[in-house]
Amino acid sequence: MDKIAVIGAGTMGSGIAQVFAMARFAVSLTDSDTSAAQRGLESISRSLDRQIKKGTIDADLKEQTLLRIEIAPDLPTAVSDARTVIEAVPEVQELKSELFRRLDEITPFDCLLLSNTSSISITRLAAVTRRPDRVAGMHFMNPVPLMPLVEVVRGQQTSQQTADRVMGFARELGKEPVLVRDFPGFVANRILMPMINEAVYTLQEGVAGIAEIDAVMKLGMSHPMGPLLLADYIGLDVCLSILRVLHEGFGQPKYAPAPLLVNLVQAGRMGAKSGRGFYRWSDEGKAIEPAVIFG
Ligand code: NAD
Repeated sequence: MDKIAVIGAGTMGSGIAQVFAMARFAVSLTDSDTSAAQRGLESISRSLDRQIKKGTIDADLKEQTLLRIEIAPDLPTAVSDARTVIEAVPEVQELKSELFRRLDEITPFDCLLLSNTSSISITRLAAVTRRPDRVAGMHFMNPVPLMPLVEVVRGQQTSQQTADRVMGFARELGKEPVLVRDFPGFVANRILMPMINEAVYTLQEGVAGIAEIDAVMKLGMSHPMGPLLLADYIGLDVCLSILRVLHEGFGQPKYAPAPLLVNLVQAGRMGAKSGRGFYRWSDEGKAIEPAVIFG
């Protein structure tokens, strides 16, 4: 059984560990905060319970899945014997580069080093290693167990063989991989984030209110939810940092983050995770009503 090491056990890392374990891979999960690794495991258990309740898996698969995941106390333990490493640490360039530098030192030369980054250049991460041909992006969507898409990002030096292996992994997980080139925001966020940003400008200019903007996109374009609600789910800080990557990477004013988005993040209004963004959120993580923007 192939072993996969997952680095970072937050929202995405725990979901990634879950889907690999469900597909019969041995998974080693680690986090620089040991309590986060434990919380990650608990959230996997709750996610599997929800699937049992929906009738999509049985209790036996839950037990087998949890047995295949081990929590590793540190990075070297996590990656020992792993043929593939995927990282899901926060979206901070220096943090990811430092992690790739370290992984390059402590893993065998043929080990694949993958990133779940939403927008950071794979080519840039690969450049700090001595194996840029074995570095690629494997960009899962949130929530990982439910969303079928995996964007497979081929950096400037990623080999065909590496891209093929990552596409193969995604299929083994029952996902639908799409191969894309390494340009800022790849495909998903290059298209999604300008739409969210435009929704924020539309609100900022008083063209319509939060509920109205979301209703237009939901009812008129058949989107499952409006862009402002989606931004709250993603995290307004995350949206802002991806827009900054697009703005810096392409150097075009059309990607400049809306000043209202910047203000909300500076005011600590991050969306669902902080209880307030464009909406007010309950402790159980449900959007209650549009929040007051200009008090
Ligand atoms: P998160 O904050 O929920 O989790 C990150 C985890 O990494 C935390 O538990 C933190 O303790 C841990 N960590 C920090 N530094 C570490 C280190 N050096 N070594 C090991 N662990 C470390 O973040 P997330 O939402 O899961 O996002 C992770 C990555 O996935 C980011 O690159 C993000 O852009 C990408 N992503 C996020 C989403 C999303 O909707 N949240 C979707 C797609 C991709």
